[in-house]
Amino acid sequence: MAEFLGTMVLLMFGAGVVASVVLFGTGTPGELVNGGFTNINIGWGLGVAMGIFVAGKISGAHLNPAVTVALAVRRGFPWGKVLPYSLAQTAGAFAGAALVFLGYRAAFMKFDPALEKTAGVFATFPAFPASPMTGWIDQIIGTALLVLLVLAITDEKNQPAGAFTPFAVGLVVVAIGMCWGTLHGYAINPARDLGPRLFTVAAGFRNNGLTDGTGVFWVPLVAPLIGGVIGAVLYDAGIRRYLPMALVVMLASGQPAWAQAQAQDTVVLKAARLFDGRSDMLQTPGMVVVSGGRIESVGATAQIPAGAKVIDLGDATLSPGFMDVHTHLNSERSDDTRNDRIRRLEETPAERALIAATYARKTLMAGFTTVRDLGGADFIDVGLRNAINKGFAEGPRMLVAVRSICTLGGHCDGTNGYRFGFLNPEAMLPNVASGPDGMRNAVRWAVKYGADVIKVTASGGVLSLNDDVDSPQLTQEELNALVDEAHAKRKKAAAHSHGAEAAKRAIRAGIDSIEHGSFLDDEALRMMVEKGTYLVPTLMAADSIRETWAKGGRMDPRTERKARLALDAMDVTVSKAIRMGVKIAFGTDSGVSRHGRNAEEFKLMAGRGMKPVDALKAATSAGADLLGVGDRLGTLQAGRVADIVAIPGNPLVDISQTERVGFVMKDGRVFKGGL
Ligand SMILES: [Zn+2]
Repeated sequence: MAEFLGTMVLLMFGAGVVASVVLFGTGTPGELVNGGFTNINIGWGLGVAMGIFVAGKISGAHLNPAVTVALAVRRGFPWGKVLPYSLAQTAGAFAGAALVFLGYRAAFMKFDPALEKTAGVFATFPAFPASPMTGWIDQIIGTALLVLLVLAITDEKNQPAGAFTPFAVGLVVVAIGMCWGTLHGYAINPARDLGPRLFTVAAGFRNNGLTDGTGVFWVPLVAPLIGGVIGAVLYDAGIRRYLPMALVVMLASGQPAWAQAQAQDTVVLKAARLFDGRSDMLQTPGMVVVSGGRIESVGATAQIPAGAKVIDLGDATLSPGFMDVHTHLNSERSDDTRNDRIRRLEETPAERALIAATYARKTLMAGFTTVRDLGGADFIDVGLRNAINKGFAEGPRMLVAVRSICTLGGHCDGTNGYRFGFLNPEAMLPNVASGPDGMRNAVRWAVKYGADVIKVTASGGVLSLNDDVDSPQLTQEELNALVDEAHAKRKKAAAHSHGAEAAKRAIRAGIDSIEHGSFLDDEALRMMVEKGTYLVPTLMAADSIRETWAKGGRMDPRTERKARLALDAMDVTVSKAIRMGVKIAFGTDSGVSRHGRNAEEFKLMAGRGMKPVDALKAATSAGADLLGVGDRLGTLQAGRVADIVAIPGNPLVDISQTERVGFVMKDGRVFKGGL
C-alpha cells in the first residue's frame, strides 16, 4: 500500500508537470526542450522526493522495480516481496496517471480531442524511434546512475543524507533528467512507465507504444532492471567494500514495552548471507536468533521474538567466530630479534601481562573469538585467560598450554643461548624434561598450573638458538609417554615439528596436530591422512619473517639461516598437504607475526590452493574439532555458544574480506559493531 501511494504521488507530480507543459504550451514539439523541459525535470524530481516522504517509513520507498530488484540482488531484500512491490508500484503509477488525466481532462479535450499525440504526457517515448539501441543504452546508464546514487545517499556509513534523503534522491532524478532525459524520456523505472502506459491504453490514447505497433514499451521495462543491478554492483565493488561495515539496530516494531523488557537479552542478527561453519554453500539471507548467550535458531525463516533487538548488518556474511589454534598472546616479535632477547630480560611479568591484554583485545576485534595459545612464560597465558573469563579483560576464549614441553637444549628451553650460570637455575622449570617419566611429569605440572592443552616441541625451531630447525628432539618413547599422559588427562596434544622424522614419531604416538610441518615428506603426510592428524600450517609466521627481511630488520644470523630453509619448504609442503587431503586447521603463530593480523592467514591458505570455503571451515568447525569443543563452538546451530562475526560482502568471492570483520559477538555479547 505504501509503495502504491508513494508511486501514485510520484506520478501525480511527474505526469502533472508534463501535462501542464505540453497542454499549455504552443504545442510545437520543440517547446518541450526550450525551457519547458527544465520544468519537467524539476517537477519529476520533486515528485520522487514527495513519493519518498509518503512511503519512506513503511516500505523503504523503492517506488521503482529497478530499485527493488537491485536491492534483492545486492542487499538481501526478500525475493518473495519483489513481485508484490512491483505490482503495487505499477498500480500506483496507473492510478497517478489516471488522476492527472482526470484533472486535466478539459485541457486534453481541447488540445488533443482524438487522443492521438499526447500519450507522452504519461509514458516515455524514444526521441529517436528508429534506434531502440539508443534507448537501451540510455535506460541502462540512467538507471545504473540512479541506483548507484541512491545506495550512496542511503548508506549510513557513507554520506547518509538523513532527513534530506528524499530531496537528495529527487535531485538525482533532476540531474539524470537534465543530462540523459532527451534520448528516451528517462523512464529509469519500469513501474513509472508501464503503469501510466497501461492507463493510456485503457483511456484510448492512440500512440501509446503498446498497442500502436511501435513496440517501444519494453525498452523502459527491461533496461532499467539491468541498469539498476549494474549500478548496485558498481557501488558495492567500488565504494561499499572499502567502508566500515554498516550497522542498523532497531527494535522489532509494534511490541508493547513489557514485552521488550522480557526479551531484553534476545538479539536477532540479520545479513545478506550466512556461513554455518560446515556447508559449502552460503545461506541467503542470513539470520541468527541469540538468547542468553546461546544460539536459539538459525535461518531466514526463524521467528523474530517479540521485542527482540534486531541488528541488520546489510551486505555482509554471518559466520561462526574465527578460531586461531596457534597463538602466543604473551609476546610479540619485533623486527629486531636480538633486541627482543634483551627486552625479555628487562620486562617484568606484570608489564608483559598488561601488554598481552592489548594483544588479546586486538585478536578479538579481528574476529577471533577462540584461540589455542601454545606456550608462553610466567603464566601470563593462564592469567589472561582467567581475567578474560571473569570480564576484567577483553579477548578471545583461550585454551592455554602454560609452557611448551621439550628436552634439555630443545626449542623451548628458555636458557638456550646464554652462558651457563647466567640465568637463575630455578628458572629451569619442569617443562624441560628428559625420559618418558620426565615427560609425564611435565604434562602433570602443566595441567596442575592451568593447562587446557599440551604443547610439545618435537623438533628444533626457527627462532631458537643451539638447535637444528628439523632434527628430532624427543625419542619415540618420550612422545608416547607425553601423548598418553595428556590424553589420560583428557587434554589434546599439539606438536611443534618442522622436521619429518620428529613429526612421524609424534603422529605414531597419537598426537592431535602437527604445527608448522615445514619439511614433512609424503610418508608423514600419508600417516596424517590415515590417523586423522591435523596440520596447522602457520603461514603467517613465514610471511611475517619475509616482511621483516623486506623492511631490512635485524635477525640473528643463526636463526636467519634456519628461517630461509623452513620458509621455502613450508610453501611446497602445505600445497601438497591440501592436495593429499590432510585435515587442516587455521593457525597463525601470532606472536611471531603481529597480533590482530590473524585473518591474513586466510588469503595465504587460499594462495596455497585451498578453496576459500575450506579455509573458512579450517577456522571454524575444523578448529573446533581439533580443540575438542565442536559440541559448543565452531558452527552456527541452535544450542551452540553465540560466537558470531560478520564479514563484509561475500568471503567466498573475496577471502581477504575476512580481514575487515565489522561485527564481533562472543558468548552472546557484542564486542564490536555497536549496541
Ligand atoms: Zn608457535
